[in-house]
Amino acid sequence: MDKEIIYLDNSATTRISECAKEKMAQAADIYGNPSSLHAMGSAAERIIRDAKTEILLSLGVRAVRDEDLRRLCFTSCGTEATNLALFGTAYAKKRREATRILTTDSEHPSVENSLARLAEDGFEIVRIPTRGGVLDTEALNASLDKPIFMASFMLVNNETGALYNVREAFGAIRRKNPSAVLHCDAVQGYLKVKFTPESLGADLVTLSAHKIHGPKGIGALYIAPRMLKERRIAPYLCGGGQEYGMRSGTENVIGIAGFGAAVREVCGSMPRSCEKMRELRDYTAEKLSSLGVILNRPSGESAPHILNLTLPDIKSQTMLNALSERGIYVSSGSACSSHSTHPSKTLISFGLTPHEADCSLRISFSEYNTKDDCDRLISALGEEISKLVRIRR
Ligand code: PLP
Repeated sequence: MDKEIIYLDNSATTRISECAKEKMAQAADIYGNPSSLHAMGSAAERIIRDAKTEILLSLGVRAVRDEDLRRLCFTSCGTEATNLALFGTAYAKKRREATRILTTDSEHPSVENSLARLAEDGFEIVRIPTRGGVLDTEALNASLDKPIFMASFMLVNNETGALYNVREAFGAIRRKNPSAVLHCDAVQGYLKVKFTPESLGADLVTLSAHKIHGPKGIGALYIAPRMLKERRIAPYLCGGGQEYGMRSGTENVIGIAGFGAAVREVCGSMPRSCEKMRELRDYTAEKLSSLGVILNRPSGESAPHILNLTLPDIKSQTMLNALSERGIYVSSGSACSSHSTHPSKTLISFGLTPHEADCSLRISFSEYNTKDDCDRLISALGEEISKLVRIRR
């Protein structure tokens, strides 16, 4: 792509880092099947072990031993990792003490639609409100009056950047329900905010490589030792028993190599890159507030890379097209839900009207963005707002 592109859609996906590309090219030459017992197979298997070690280290697992490697299960994406977490837990045991599942009202479709399927199978789904980007603690506490089977809360919202207090929520659930399985979709929070599965009190954590400068088509599910020991999770891809039996199918060695390399690189630069994203976001927010847009900033904590705003009576798709013509790429809400014609459920939960949600843009930053990118977005948005408002009059 040419140099003029300004890419501000990093919550949808990120540019693959040079380091990840290099590791992927090296892995492509080691084409043995990791299950094969010859030297080329072992070399491929080593790539998987190295990447797993890297990712487990990033999740706070110190001195990764062989038996720790089963704590990470590679999948084809974050969506599959979440499907494994939710369906794998729901169907691990035929007899369950409870059928109640807690979640938020602003989850990614990979959680929301999986839970809708579980609801058809008799599970009761309770959604905790997230108005203003904050988990409603009162509603959460009120929902703990009956036994909980499982909870699935995202760490960072993909449309607003709101950082939910998962640690506190999981603590409250666990106190009353020691055996509940706690899943966290950390796709948008991974390497943007500091956490470990332990610090969240999570049994299962979903990750995805393409949000952190790794390749698409590779994700992972962290599985806490107690889940494995007590067989609380069962695979739903059955076959040759790869990934310690948790996800059969020949591994995506090239993707895994890229995932591991991206994690190593981003981990190394994390405090600095997060600070940079935060500065760019805050700078952009401040300048944009004088253009008549409404900033949809979470009233609690937020991740550093996402800024959501509502345009003055201009449909987001119209603005998105106008910016795209200028080589500036942003998003009209979550890319994953852009197939839907309904206004974003997340923004409605946040407190916007359907019309406001329809006029909202998401700008998302990465460490590759510069202040110049922000200035060019700000002036393009300013010009397009005046133009589109004039046309309407
Ligand atoms: N969860 C969240 C919060 C996301 O933002 C996304 C993707 O945008 C996913 C899950 C799905 O990840 P993947 O694209 O790897 O399936």
